[in-house]
Amino acid sequence: MEKVVMALDQGTTSSRCILFDRKGTIIGSAQKEFRQYYPEPGWVEHDPMEIWSSQMSVMMEAMTQVGVTARDIAALGITNQRETTIVWDRKTGVPVYNAIVWQCRRTSGMIDRLKAEGFTQMIRERTGLIPDAYFSASKIAWILDHVSGAREKAERGELYFGTVDSWLIWKLTGGKVHATDYTNASRTMLFNIHTLQWDPDLLRLFNIPACMMPEVKPSSYLFGMTAEEVTGIPIRVAGAAGDQQSALFGQCCFHRGEMKNTYGTGCFLLMNTGDQPVTSEHGLVTTLTAGADDHPGYALEGSVFVAGAVIQWLRDELKMIHSAAETEQICRSVPDTGGVFLVPAFTGLGAPVWNQDARGTVIGLTRGTTRAHFVRAAVESLAYQTMDVVHAMEQDCGFSLSGLKVDGGASANDFILQFQADILRCSVERPVCTETTALGAAYLAGLAVGFWNSLDELRANWRLERSFAPTMEMKQRDALVRGWRIAEKCAGFAAEEYHRES
Ligand code: ADP
Repeated sequence: MEKVVMALDQGTTSSRCILFDRKGTIIGSAQKEFRQYYPEPGWVEHDPMEIWSSQMSVMMEAMTQVGVTARDIAALGITNQRETTIVWDRKTGVPVYNAIVWQCRRTSGMIDRLKAEGFTQMIRERTGLIPDAYFSASKIAWILDHVSGAREKAERGELYFGTVDSWLIWKLTGGKVHATDYTNASRTMLFNIHTLQWDPDLLRLFNIPACMMPEVKPSSYLFGMTAEEVTGIPIRVAGAAGDQQSALFGQCCFHRGEMKNTYGTGCFLLMNTGDQPVTSEHGLVTTLTAGADDHPGYALEGSVFVAGAVIQWLRDELKMIHSAAETEQICRSVPDTGGVFLVPAFTGLGAPVWNQDARGTVIGLTRGTTRAHFVRAAVESLAYQTMDVVHAMEQDCGFSLSGLKVDGGASANDFILQFQADILRCSVERPVCTETTALGAAYLAGLAVGFWNSLDELRANWRLERSFAPTMEMKQRDALVRGWRIAEKCAGFAAEEYHRES
């Protein structure tokens, strides 16, 4: 009998492979970093062949580590960095250009022009997204416009486009299957999230031939079998989802109102809104979720640009700390921040403030402010920024959050999670398995092949490691939130004043 499900977690800085058993427990994993290319300021690329080779090598490494062969693997699921764009020749399999990574800003001018021409509303209505260079559409257009001969070849039907899931599915199946899933499609800014089709008007707007686009399938679906030259014995490729949607699924947020927050370099919050798309009045985006059946659901998504990154900044630039983990003990060494608030608006402020020009701001410094106060203010900013996004979601949906499931590197910090519970006034729950992104992909693949049979079975696997309940007095909490709001205003106000004067 097959023993395990394999998840391929293709992230921005590394490729990973994790093997899970029926209980959703990790039984083996391997990880490999790969090279980042910065050909010009603000540009970010990956080599698609290196994405593939690193993914293959971690697959083999994880299998060797656990002592399983392809025969023991019930299915394979993929989760991936979203929006990153690859265009390749369908005959030779050779990419015509490097992968343009989601972070790459090279097409922001193209997006500014579309906004100026009045396309924002139409794009929002159809795709649920706020026009941005982040999404795949303008990146595909850039490749077709800048790589010699690419447009002609694309029009002749010789080129394929894919996000990373699609590229891996195509490589794994030996070039047999050109497909993606709903969640990845919903991040391209070319997919109509209501009709669940590539949108012909958007394809025309970006001048992208429809024949390049992958077929769009459910996230839990038998895409195909791995080719003999890849794994010897074929493995079923049976799941795919973008990283954030995969984590939502891995956290078992299957129903409306359920929400997860991933505390990594940034924070990513997703709230399941069920079978109804919710249009945000607060600058959040609407996106498709991974489901166990043929129909995807909807979620609201909000992100915090600088979360764990502020802790890296304390360590690498200010040299105030030696390690991220040390912040927990430093925060506990003082009863509070002594009135200091730190807004890490290094790249502007996101939802719900949306001020691109805002910059990092600290208020409330006194002669008595210590390193511990300063570090604590930086750490607390993760919780305040999360609160801002949660409040925006609550207002958009008209209901309040009952609990927040958390994962990501910084969710290891108990101080952050306790403070988060206090500020949000709801419970914050950390599962035993915080590798929820990979777990989600494994679940999607395992469900498609009957390794797991129901969502209840998956829920039973979700085990609480620790729950944080609010304990802070309401008065104190409200005073802190007031302080944060003032600090946020200062971050925006300073930017405006500075611009006015310069
Ligand atoms: P990503 O996937 O975005 O690279 P991870 O989920 O691996 O991020 O989390 C890494 C981030 O979490 C880093 O920014 C780091 O500063 C922060 N971090 C890791 N451990 C802790 C900790 N114990 N306390 C606070 N922050 C932490």
